[in-house]
Amino acid sequence: MVEKQGTGFLMGTFTKRALVIGGGIAGIQAALDIADGGYEVILVERSPSIGGHMIQYAEVFPTLDCPQCILTPKMVEIAQHPNVKLMTCAEVQKVSGGPGNFEVEILQKSRRVDHNKCNGCGTCWQKCPEKTLSEYDDAMAKRTAVYIPFPQAVPAKPVIDCDHCRYIRYQEWMAGTRTGKKPPQCRICEKLCPVGAIDWEQKDEVITEKVGAIVVATGFDLMPISLIPEYAEDPDVLNGIQFERLLSPGGPTAGVVTRPSDGKVPKEMVFVSCCGSRDPEHGVPYCSRVCCMYLAKQALLYKHAVPDGQAYIFYIDIRSTGKGYEEFIQRVQSDGVVYLRGKVSKIFRDGDKLRVYGADTLSGKRVEIAADLVVLGMAVMPSAGTKEVAAKLGIDLDDSGFVSESHAKFNPLETTVPGIFVAGMAQGPKDIPDAVAQGSGAAGRVLTFFAQAGKELVVV
Ligand SMILES: Cc1cc2nc3c(=O)[nH]c(=O)nc-3n(C[C@H](O)[C@H](O)[C@H](O)COP(=O)(O)OP(=O)(O)OC[C@H]3O[C@@H](n4cnc5c(N)ncnc54)[C@H](O)[C@@H]3O)c2cc1C
Repeated sequence: MVEKQGTGFLMGTFTKRALVIGGGIAGIQAALDIADGGYEVILVERSPSIGGHMIQYAEVFPTLDCPQCILTPKMVEIAQHPNVKLMTCAEVQKVSGGPGNFEVEILQKSRRVDHNKCNGCGTCWQKCPEKTLSEYDDAMAKRTAVYIPFPQAVPAKPVIDCDHCRYIRYQEWMAGTRTGKKPPQCRICEKLCPVGAIDWEQKDEVITEKVGAIVVATGFDLMPISLIPEYAEDPDVLNGIQFERLLSPGGPTAGVVTRPSDGKVPKEMVFVSCCGSRDPEHGVPYCSRVCCMYLAKQALLYKHAVPDGQAYIFYIDIRSTGKGYEEFIQRVQSDGVVYLRGKVSKIFRDGDKLRVYGADTLSGKRVEIAADLVVLGMAVMPSAGTKEVAAKLGIDLDDSGFVSESHAKFNPLETTVPGIFVAGMAQGPKDIPDAVAQGSGAAGRVLTFFAQAGKELVVV
């Protein structure tokens, strides 16, 4: 159990070593800044690679940089930094102690691949016969059972997905823990691996580490489309991340925008803002902050990909408060994207088209569009990981499930437990520049906290 000290003296054992939970852009930035400040940092990421959501995008507003180009160098720096211990496929299991002296149990999940032997040659994932939906492509494409999530993954070494690997399913069937038809034995990855890195006996491991400070950077999830029954669940109704993958040159269609249902190029596209956000009826009263901007970006990128296509954006208000954001919206509008001020009441399949019923409150008219493809700006929600981690750390969450600050104005990066800090979407919806600023800010707070060892701990 974490000691929730209000005030006290940071005396006795004080470990000047930090833990960052979550390897998205906020956690990456926090870890790099702490490491560059001269302290050891453990970065724990639950998925097989760091990068978070940013690495899934085609381009990023407002500058339209390629995220793979600007984020990959930071990811590689994490892997090579002498002060960073990177743990992927890992989760914090238990935390005890208190500020300056936390003891953390980290569950290192088995990858069934010995990363000390593996040279990342790719033979295993190129030859694996079993396919399942790719998390990186948000189910828009398939990956193999032994896989790296994407070409720029860090670490660039594979893991075996135990739920889909034929041989592991075979072993379970033989042990009587799996029912149904006997799965084939396979083991092709093991047969072809030139360095003998496949390790079927590798087990989960619990590693105990001592740290003085913790940064929570567990990010966000998107609200599932199924929570809005008025909008059809249809292969041609996508969330924002799925459309990023369609736009991406490294995505399932190599950046050619086509409809998932039939591969046709969509000529009429509708983008819908505030799907769930600012809508207490669907449980999310707050503004998700990034949807106005990313839908504008996506409509612009669609126009670049399909110059004779027509894009419509339904919006309540356009929230474009970042630097260069208003100018970006004006550019999108002048490039021919049509903005319709009003909510969409219904989306349903009608033959080859998707009928989108909405209102244009500026003209006072009902609008009906026969669309080929629809993108929903689904609400940003606290990630499942945030809730789990908060319970283990004993930090408070706000009414919406984001991490509470110890003081919303003066301590925006401190949680309700001294020595535990927060950065990025785990604290609330925000764009990449703000997530980076918070990552650096949280790292700065960690370094200041380390400098306070032996002094009185004062909490505002
Ligand atoms: C469709 C879409 C497009 C966007 N486009 C842009 C854009 O163009 N420009 C822009 O500025 N912003 C954009 N954004 C916003 C941007 O995605 C966020 O600002 C950014 O990803 C926040 O980074 P983060 O590190 O806080 O969270 P995330 O990117 O969500 O990373 C969190 C990480 O924590 C890990 N994690 C979660 N729980 C645990 C746990 N318990 N233990 C260990 N690890 C855990 C996750 O696996 C993940 O790797 C967009 C958002 C969306 C939805």
